[in-house]
Amino acid sequence: MAKVFTFMNQRIEDILRDYRRIEAISHAQRVLHWDLEVMMPEGGIDHRSESLANIEILQREFYLRLAEKVNSVEGDLDDIEKGIIRNLKRTIRYYSLPEDLIKRIEKITTKAPLIWREARKKSDFSMFEPSLREIVSLSREVAEKLGYERHPYNALMDLYEEGFTVDDANIIFSRILNETSRIMKKIEGTEFYGRHPLEQRKYRKESMEKVNREIIKILGMPEKRFRMDVSAHPFTIGISMDDVRITTRYEGINFKSTLFSTVHESGHAIYELQKDPSLAWTPVSRAPSLGFHESQSRFFENIVGRSREFVHLIYPVLRENLSFINKYSEDEIYNYFNMVHPSLIRVDADEVTYNLHIALRYEIEKGLIEGSIDTKDLPGIWNSFMDKYLGIVPENDSQGVLQDIHWSQGSFGYFPTYTLGNVISAIIRGRFDNLSNLIAEGNIIAIRDYLREKVHRYGSIYTPKELLRISFGEGYNPEYLLKYLEEKFS
Ligand code: MG
Repeated sequence: MAKVFTFMNQRIEDILRDYRRIEAISHAQRVLHWDLEVMMPEGGIDHRSESLANIEILQREFYLRLAEKVNSVEGDLDDIEKGIIRNLKRTIRYYSLPEDLIKRIEKITTKAPLIWREARKKSDFSMFEPSLREIVSLSREVAEKLGYERHPYNALMDLYEEGFTVDDANIIFSRILNETSRIMKKIEGTEFYGRHPLEQRKYRKESMEKVNREIIKILGMPEKRFRMDVSAHPFTIGISMDDVRITTRYEGINFKSTLFSTVHESGHAIYELQKDPSLAWTPVSRAPSLGFHESQSRFFENIVGRSREFVHLIYPVLRENLSFINKYSEDEIYNYFNMVHPSLIRVDADEVTYNLHIALRYEIEKGLIEGSIDTKDLPGIWNSFMDKYLGIVPENDSQGVLQDIHWSQGSFGYFPTYTLGNVISAIIRGRFDNLSNLIAEGNIIAIRDYLREKVHRYGSIYTPKELLRISFGEGYNPEYLLKYLEEKFS
């Protein structure tokens, strides 16, 4: 078992006593969020939103009340104590934004997703543009107030990926853009390129439910600390370290979609389940960044889940529950899992082209925040990036600039972490010398143990950059990802 952390510093102990209230509040918040997505009847939304907004205010007050104690901590601190103070300072800095600014953001980002939904339905960007304009302007104000070096977008990315900068991102995306087009040329003309007939194949929901139940058994999800439900958008939520929940969805067609969303969310869940228990009730009990969290879901989804060995492992389960599988060999299922094809919609993208969708969003967000792109020009700019990066252009805005909910929620700086997840997952893959064997043997426990040891147990004691360095001796190096894709598809 991992080392149990203890706190020597009296002031830290005092702070952690106060912090229990904050953790209790956010525990309640998470349950309410889960319930909202999974169980709540539609009619509950108004009261629930109002409650959540007020709970958020309460939480902010508790954090601000802690500020003085946090700022007065001095003397020799060990790593975990430093982590506690660093994380608290970051949150307090965010909650110290002017109340008026926070309220304006809250107001517009409550309304904007509804407007966005309507605009997407009608495929009319001009409906959404005024809201987006206001959100961009408020995001720029947030960046100014939080402060930054070199580029205002750094302040926003830092909210999701501590210490990650435009300089880091430029290197990653320019490498990915260059290499992906080269790798794509190699894939064209192979059996991986294009569409697979199974993508059109319908399935019975009950059958896929059985498959997904077997999959989470194979992944070793603990029955007493984990549950899986259904929601419109699959997600994972760590209610506590011993109560982790995922959701999946059943579209009734193209079974890999529900299968990989189950595996993906299980990867997130494994992270939540494997943190060092002694970090519970502390500010370092979360993952260090969204990129790190996503690295675990991508590791299981892509590197484990889309491997030949994994297909072999689950093939009997597929055959038993889906009658049409009899017509397809393991090799064919492997191809089906790994088809590559430039597509308009990010969430449908394959492993290779996915990062191009992110590169496009990164360039656009950076431009919006620095002021070199105006919101009213977005549809045209979107389409020209699509053409340049993926060689296809959407016929309407709902398949283009209006496809993601993120901007309506004010989440600027979030998208790059999806690619960082891929980058980090490939770095981790490079550290295994027997990964294929472990998967083939169904020894998922050994894989989980390694990830616990190198990543999960640390929570957010270290910044993501520090953790990459400590555990893997690396930075956000995209070369492992490019090498992995190249090897896999050629
Ligand atoms: Mg995810």
